[in-house]
Amino acid sequence: MAKRTHPLGKVRNIGIMAHIDAGKTTTTERILFYTGKNYKIGEVHDGGATMDWMEQEQERGITITSAATTCSWNDHVINIIDTPGHVDFTVEVERSLRVLDGAVAVFDAATGVEPQSETVWRQADKYNVPRICFMNKMDKMGADFLMAVGTIEERLGAKPVPMQIPIGAESNFVGIVDLIDMEARVWEGSGDDHGAKFETIEIPEDIKDVCEEYRAKLVEAVAESDESLLETYLEEGDLTTEQMMPAIRAATIKGEFIPVYCGSAFKNKGVQMLLDAVVSFLPSPKDVASVQGTDPKTGEKITREASEDAPFSALAFKIMTDPFVGKLTYFRVYSGQVEQGTSAINSTKDKKERFGRILQMHANSREDREAAFTGDIAAAVGMKHTTTGDTLCDPDNPVILESMTFDKPVIHIAIEPKTKADQQKMGTGLQKLAEEDPTFTVHTDEESGQTIIGGMGELHLDIIVDRLRREFKVEANIGKPQVAYRETITKPVEGHLLRFKRQTGGSGQFAEVVISLYPTGAFAPEDERRVVVDEDGKETGEVGG
Ligand code: GDP
Repeated sequence: MAKRTHPLGKVRNIGIMAHIDAGKTTTTERILFYTGKNYKIGEVHDGGATMDWMEQEQERGITITSAATTCSWNDHVINIIDTPGHVDFTVEVERSLRVLDGAVAVFDAATGVEPQSETVWRQADKYNVPRICFMNKMDKMGADFLMAVGTIEERLGAKPVPMQIPIGAESNFVGIVDLIDMEARVWEGSGDDHGAKFETIEIPEDIKDVCEEYRAKLVEAVAESDESLLETYLEEGDLTTEQMMPAIRAATIKGEFIPVYCGSAFKNKGVQMLLDAVVSFLPSPKDVASVQGTDPKTGEKITREASEDAPFSALAFKIMTDPFVGKLTYFRVYSGQVEQGTSAINSTKDKKERFGRILQMHANSREDREAAFTGDIAAAVGMKHTTTGDTLCDPDNPVILESMTFDKPVIHIAIEPKTKADQQKMGTGLQKLAEEDPTFTVHTDEESGQTIIGGMGELHLDIIVDRLRREFKVEANIGKPQVAYRETITKPVEGHLLRFKRQTGGSGQFAEVVISLYPTGAFAPEDERRVVVDEDGKETGEVGG
């Protein structure tokens, strides 16, 4: 049996969550730079096994795919599970939150928490994901660390605890004071090391008071979170670093407070300290509650320990097509281990699946792994039946792990190839994309024969059309987006199908056509009138669109 090389306690499965433009990509890129041996800044945009490999994402500056990248820091393995920031992809955020153990929330220090950060934050609450915050863009005009920290409390109702105080702000942002060891660190210029080096200086006079004040708040928060430390604190009035570190870790994991860091990813400032915090305070797979599931035959509840000795169980959380190796099934191992070349069952679908190859993605390379162990995040090549949310497990000890729920598409549009001959190619492409994405649907409208696609928003469907063009070489036109009628009809006739009437030819007659209970936005000819009719064909209302 393959042996794991890395203690489970030294694994961190984290997500970096942020609202668009807060600097998630830049921060991730810097993390990969500091943790990688051969990684150069800027490479993240050049294709290969990177976080943001889709053209579309780069053009729009957003991250859509939820791939995982493995790196290491201070003897720890960090798997970064990409979490998209656009509201159309909240379901993508949810599926990544399901498999990660902790997260770094990145905010813009000039604006603090913004409405869209709230959505992601609430989702993380739902999955009890422990978090630390990074107030990025300290170099930007208007950056104000303590104001931004305040927005965490005001808008998210969380308890932020600053771990640092910035030295200067905007163009004068030069360093930070660490409130645990009360040391001031400033970065040396902007040399080739990209901020990897800093020097320790005396805490500047003008921020001494604020540092004392926030150090006291930090110590108090730590003491309040830990009964055994409270007594020491009351006696001594302070706590040592050795006392504080494990207590901060415990409080962060329990979600009692949120450690807050600051920096400027763009100016290479503060990301190393953030990485130290990831390792020090975010949980390992051992620190989170054991995964729950059910026996597929009896429906009995099963708990699976995060241990190599337990039977193998894993959750598939992302299907992607890789330009080089084909279909990749990203999975997280919750218990036991699986070796390359062996088979498991997909207990959700009751099908056998083979782990032909097991890959781990690094910033600029992919690594073939002999096996994947408890806590690991990896990708399997060549799976046939598995889709997002499925459980893969030991055939002799089957379990279906608690999975994720997916929302139904809220927008439907008709799609047709620009060249008729591409119809079949388009169908194949759409089918493949639907396999990857549980919130994307394809069907043929029975009445019109048109192909209808459904998704979570206009941008979501735009991206599908773009991927059709790039990955399947099909140029397609889409109809005007229409929100599914279940939202536009105020009084649906219960138990009845929704019907519409279409004017036929030049006769002026309306032919009544039943489409479906939730009809979709097929191309509507100018002369079409859509009405809701009851069982007897009597009109009960008109349908907009
Ligand atoms: P994402 O949408 O969250 O992935 O954000 P990006 O990392 O793409 O950053 C959005 C914009 O903010 C880009 O123009 C970055 O160059 C810029 N940016 C990122 N980090 C910083 C920073 O620390 N300071 C400043 N001034 N700009 C930054």
